[in-house]
Amino acid sequence: MEKRLYPGGKKKVFTVSYDDGITQDVRFISLLNRYGIKGTFNLNSELMQTESTWVHETGMVVKRLSPAAAQGLYDGHEIASHSLTHPYFEEKPRAFVLHEMGQDRENLRSLFGQEVSGFAAPFDYWSPLMAECAKECGFEYSRISEISHSYALPEDLYYWRPGIFHLEKELDEYVDGFLETDEELAICQIVGHSYDLDAENLWEKMEDIFRRVSQAEDVAFMTTIEIVRHLKALGVR
Ligand SMILES: [Zn+2]
Repeated sequence: MEKRLYPGGKKKVFTVSYDDGITQDVRFISLLNRYGIKGTFNLNSELMQTESTWVHETGMVVKRLSPAAAQGLYDGHEIASHSLTHPYFEEKPRAFVLHEMGQDRENLRSLFGQEVSGFAAPFDYWSPLMAECAKECGFEYSRISEISHSYALPEDLYYWRPGIFHLEKELDEYVDGFLETDEELAICQIVGHSYDLDAENLWEKMEDIFRRVSQAEDVAFMTTIEIVRHLKALGVR
């Protein structure tokens, strides 16, 4: 059987999925754009309206982008929902979940004028009810917080476990393994928040990773929703 590939005849795909829509996304996106990398940005539309801030454990004040500051910023990347208000969903009733997901999807669609088809779970909670609600709201996938440490296709698009969190000490090793693997349709998905790059002084390390993957000849760069649709078109999901 012929080997299945990503667009452009590429054997594997690299992507990033970053949460919360904060001011450091501006620098992060300029880095992605420099290396031709496509990312997914998971936003909370209601918190954007209030430009909410919080204090990171290092004392740094983290600030969300306002809708005006975010206009145009994410062009060429995917905007996905991260819920309206970033609640902890455990024990929340179905109507609450549907509202947090569905209304965020609507708000983001009208704010940015692009279809919003992905959902990323806030915090580390996920449940069958949430997967059901994500489907009902029209999302095509939901990315959860549990990490897979693998390059395999997600078994279930509504329980999409990302490959690695960017602060894990195995990050470099994981990326090296991706560049070496022969696994069919291998995916390398890094997740995080761009404020960590300031807090942990990680900008150079991330740039080094982006440079390395951008130099690989067999790697495609796609957003999460583009990967989902490609996998569906291939009939593998
Ligand atoms: Zn978040």
